[in-house]
Amino acid sequence: MIGAFEGIDGAHSQLALEAYFRARSGAEDATTLGTPSFRASAVAVSAGRADVGIVPIDNAIAGTVRDGYDLLLEFDLVPVAEIVWRMDHRLLGAPGTTLDDIREVLAHPLVIAECGKFLASLPNARTVPCEDTGIAAREVARAGNTGLAAIAPPSAGVRYGLVELAPRVADHPENFTRFIVFRSRNASHPALAVDESDGPRKTSLILVTSNAAGSLSRCLGIIAAAGISVGKLESKPTLGRPQEAEFYLDIDGDLLDPEHADALADLRKAALDLHIIGSYRANAHVAAIAAGIAAPPIPALRDVLPKVSFVPQKPQKSSGSSSTPRAARDSRPAGTRLRIGNVDIGDGMFAIIAGPCSVESRQQVLETAHAVHDAGAVMLRGGAFKPRTNPYAFQGLGWEGVTHLCEAGRATGMPTVSEVMSIEQVERMAAQVDVLQIGARNMQNFDLLKAIGRTGKPVLLKRGLSATIEELIAAAEYILAEGNPNVMLCERGIRTFETATRNTLDLSAIPVLREKTHLPVLVDPSHGVGVRRWIAPMCRAAKAAGAHGLILEVHPNPPEALSDKDQALTFEDFQAIVAELDRIPVFDAQDEVTLKA
Ligand code: PEP
Ligand code: MN
Repeated sequence: MIGAFEGIDGAHSQLALEAYFRARSGAEDATTLGTPSFRASAVAVSAGRADVGIVPIDNAIAGTVRDGYDLLLEFDLVPVAEIVWRMDHRLLGAPGTTLDDIREVLAHPLVIAECGKFLASLPNARTVPCEDTGIAAREVARAGNTGLAAIAPPSAGVRYGLVELAPRVADHPENFTRFIVFRSRNASHPALAVDESDGPRKTSLILVTSNAAGSLSRCLGIIAAAGISVGKLESKPTLGRPQEAEFYLDIDGDLLDPEHADALADLRKAALDLHIIGSYRANAHVAAIAAGIAAPPIPALRDVLPKVSFVPQKPQKSSGSSSTPRAARDSRPAGTRLRIGNVDIGDGMFAIIAGPCSVESRQQVLETAHAVHDAGAVMLRGGAFKPRTNPYAFQGLGWEGVTHLCEAGRATGMPTVSEVMSIEQVERMAAQVDVLQIGARNMQNFDLLKAIGRTGKPVLLKRGLSATIEELIAAAEYILAEGNPNVMLCERGIRTFETATRNTLDLSAIPVLREKTHLPVLVDPSHGVGVRRWIAPMCRAAKAAGAHGLILEVHPNPPEALSDKDQALTFEDFQAIVAELDRIPVFDAQDEVTLKA
């Protein structure tokens, strides 16, 4: 068994995972896999490169680690067990260092929050946030300089040859972090079975309520009436929606208990929304460690994920005989709902993405972003690397364009979408924008699909110019198979004999894709027809036919646009289209007329 964690050798999450393995029969010899981020750990598990992963969800001193909860939800991972782990923080440095020498203390941001009082007591030091505890210790060892120190567990000191300068530096001795061990939905190692059958259970939820008087207490009343105790309730404002609030909620018991099932059904009705993270073994106490048994040597670590020669396995619980099991509807009958920032995309929702074809200047994208946001767009598009048919045509502003797009996204609070054309662009783009777009011309660039699959970032995958629906689904399967479940499909028109329109917008792809896959389906009428005045009717038709959203090109002054000027909507056009769409109800599959096959 392999367990993925964020960081390198010496990280607290690695120690917790190893203790967990030692206490599980059949997992004693399991190894750990260091990854660059929580997201990369989730990707490793989703792709089958690791059997389990670990993320922190809260700390006794520093509070909730929202990224941990959010990631479990975003990747649709199955929580298996909670580990309540004592965080043993020591101040470590090169031999000969005194507290007065120290100018900089390297530590993980959470650890800095846990040790604030001690850090304030160091006379000459400032704190430097570091990606990971193991890295903090390694960097101090590499520098070999008495001006630097790290906060890390004692085992990291042994590993990197550092000495202890101060013991137990957390603000309180009872400093515990709760970690969640998780697995993918379609594979479970036999050693995990004990956590799925024995011991007390907990369930984690994210509850969304309105701020109206009594909303939260109605929800809590339902839980209390069912006799379920609440272990944790922490609120988070919903950015940009002051009338709503989100609550991270842990309750005792399992979703499968009958009283829980009934209470959750009622809760779903009383709340604005309810996201279920899952049920897991509560406090999977690591007996061997509690008894003080010395930890065995830590196995050699593979520092980063393997980048090549990974052949994804078909999921164990495969859906029928489908050659694209991960994209197939029956692998997730309820449908996928993506959460991108505050934007939900999936069944029951209709999201409008808008912005310029190309980012042409800071001013142009800022102005467009404000206009489309005010009119009702929820996400901002803008190409910085443009796949142009002619090499002499405007190729986009490149990274400068990405900078302007992201500034406009921050200014309006909208997540951003931009196209990546090559593998070299993937990592840098993934660090900046919220959604990576794969353009029609790259739909079958399989190495590019694999690379974006490994990022775990949401992807907008456009249908190729001459691609069949089957080929579009197979392209999505490439991304899913790498461990990235966050894929949206986009119909943008295909090549046919018809030349009156730029492409032929295949609106029949909407019901076909909805039937064959569980992934959200968007429509791009701008590229679909290529002519401004025919865009509105296609928007209406797409919404009525069941698309989960649209992507539209908008420009402050279309005749001057540097790309796709004939299809650019003015701000007024866009407002009119959104107003018209507001009068069309969001498609509801429950009310759909279904004819026999
Ligand atoms: C775009 O959306 O900017 C684009 C180039 O679209 P497509 O890949 O569908 O042609
Ligand atoms: Mn365009």
